[in-house]
Amino acid sequence: MSQVLPQNFIDSLNGIQGFDRDAFISVHENVQQVTSIRLNPLKPSPAIKDLFVEGESIVPWCAEGKYLQKRPSFTLDPVFHGGAYYVQEASSMFLNYLIKKIYKEKSFPKRVVDLCAAPGGKSTLLAAALPDSFIVSNEVIKTRVSILAENISKWGNDNVIVTNNDPKDFKKLPGFFDLMVVDAPCSGSGLFRKDAKAIEEWSEANVEMCSHRQQRILTDAIESLSEDGYLLYSTCSYSVQEDEEICDWIVDQFSLHSVKISVDPSWGIVETVSKKHHAPGFRFYPDKLKGEGFFIACFRQTNIVDEYNSYHNKLKPAGKQVALLAVPFLKNAEEYILSDQKEIVIASLKKWEKEIAAVTNTLSVRKSGVAVGTVKGRDFIPHHELALSHLLSADIPQVNLTKDDALLYLKRQEIRVDQVRKGWTICRYEHINLGWIKVLPNRVNNYYPTNWRILKP
Ligand code: SAM
Repeated sequence: MSQVLPQNFIDSLNGIQGFDRDAFISVHENVQQVTSIRLNPLKPSPAIKDLFVEGESIVPWCAEGKYLQKRPSFTLDPVFHGGAYYVQEASSMFLNYLIKKIYKEKSFPKRVVDLCAAPGGKSTLLAAALPDSFIVSNEVIKTRVSILAENISKWGNDNVIVTNNDPKDFKKLPGFFDLMVVDAPCSGSGLFRKDAKAIEEWSEANVEMCSHRQQRILTDAIESLSEDGYLLYSTCSYSVQEDEEICDWIVDQFSLHSVKISVDPSWGIVETVSKKHHAPGFRFYPDKLKGEGFFIACFRQTNIVDEYNSYHNKLKPAGKQVALLAVPFLKNAEEYILSDQKEIVIASLKKWEKEIAAVTNTLSVRKSGVAVGTVKGRDFIPHHELALSHLLSADIPQVNLTKDDALLYLKRQEIRVDQVRKGWTICRYEHINLGWIKVLPNRVNNYYPTNWRILKP
């Protein structure tokens, strides 16, 4: 594949730190597909070993990140559907490195927001890196929230709440978040090697428009950053107007100071500084490392901030009878509050009760906690989300499928199982839960969600 870059785009990058015109053009003219995945630490599977060469394929800045030798059909890989890994561009996994450096494995942030989250690459990374934090994964565009919620459900954590809000709605939560990730919408030049359409859409006017939008998003959201809280700002654009100039603008506008973090020079990441305030940032160029174009910078709040302090629990507790039906499906049920949301029993971590109340009262919540199931007559129908989460009790019957049967299951077709025990059963493939079946005396009912099923023949 060869990508021809517009001349005005190349000219606009002249003089930018780390930009090497000839190498940059060449790496776009001779595009080598780089495919990378990030493994889910909660879902190890032997099936994953077939995808990459152990020891040789690690993304240098993210131990869970792996480069693949070739791009497989993810659609036809059952463990992909079970959330064993996320297909993510390698450069953006650098967020993992920054989190580890900032928090040095001890003082993890309590409350985190991923403000521009769909389809969920950064949020699933945050969920894996910060399993003991309360994470709000937000997306403003309604049509993109479904895929975000689906990816969060597949990832299986219980500490993520998905919201559908405009950044300005976050003004209602002043000083609430200890870490804010703004992976801003941008002109997208960093993905030119993967997306020829992005090249056609690129223009100086669009860069300018994106830069204004980035400023607006930050202005709207920044009030919700706590005292001493960190802001991680990133784009997949090479344009200074969206990167270093935004860093200068952040330091000018808000009480934030830039934070310098060291990296291994052998990784090929370019460390930059902004013109006015010398704010450090990191640039990723595909001619210097195995990954696409990316920019990220770190800031810290210096202001004294009045924290949000009005917690009124709106969760409607599930009825006693309903809870009795749900509890046998759960591991460590005592750690969760069971509530009733539109007739679905939801398990929410007790330790985040206050936080859940604050977010539920102020934002538009699309998914919170883990859906456990629904009562239908005298039966309790367990939810697909429970099957994919780590809340599921180890006492639930399981059946291990072959790859062919796993694919039939994921296509929502009929499968046969040699099982004497009747009732709700988890289908697994290579140690990964795929979903529910109900074994009846003369047949098996497939409960894989219709809207998630594989359509490919
Ligand atoms: N963080 C995501 C990930 O890692 O998978 C990718 C985010 S993408 C770069 C930027 C996101 O910002 C998109 O999902 C887009 O819908 C959203 N967005 C677009 N306009 C926005 C706005 N005005 N305010 C906030 N987010 C916006």
